[in-house]
Amino acid sequence: MAVSVKEAAEHYGLKIGRGDMACCPFHNDRTPSMKLNEDYFYCFGCGATGDVIDFVARLFNLSSYAAAQKLAYDFGIDPDKPPAAAALRKPKYPLAKAFQREELHCRRVLCDYLHLLENWKVQHAPKSPDDTIDDCFVEACQMLDYIEDLVDILTFADLEVRLKTVDMLQKDGMIDRLEERLKRLEKEVDAHDKTKIG
Ligand SMILES: [Zn+2]
Repeated sequence: MAVSVKEAAEHYGLKIGRGDMACCPFHNDRTPSMKLNEDYFYCFGCGATGDVIDFVARLFNLSSYAAAQKLAYDFGIDPDKPPAAAALRKPKYPLAKAFQREELHCRRVLCDYLHLLENWKVQHAPKSPDDTIDDCFVEACQMLDYIEDLVDILTFADLEVRLKTVDMLQKDGMIDRLEERLKRLEKEVDAHDKTKIG
């Protein structure tokens, strides 16, 4: 939504002076103590703050949704189809949001896998020198350090490194394959447990 707090405040009758300051409509303000920024307002007198929807909601005593509708209507943003408040609150950095989601997803899958490997390393360890080496044990030995490193990177590394890592993990499809496999294994374990109980 293109309406800034300042535009809305002006439209609804606030006098905006130097430094984008105005008399606060939310308390008995004699000298301008409300600062109107692009995205939010802040009153140094009473502490009132919020975005453009909050401003209109409070000014006209409306719900956020009704305030969003009023804004859409008053500013001629397709009044036939007033958008929902959620649609008006466009995230400022949609890419950052998307990245955070991807990163969380990668970390979750890797952590699940890490726990599995840790279990395998203990449970499938050979009990005596004559035991045949279990595949799960081998995989745990081979992969543990690498997966641990990846989790560390996604948790502690600089943003640039994390971006590259998430990109790499998704590009080669590793995360998707891993997630599929973990789901499959979980089902097998469930089935196994059920037959045990039954
Ligand atoms: Zn105030």
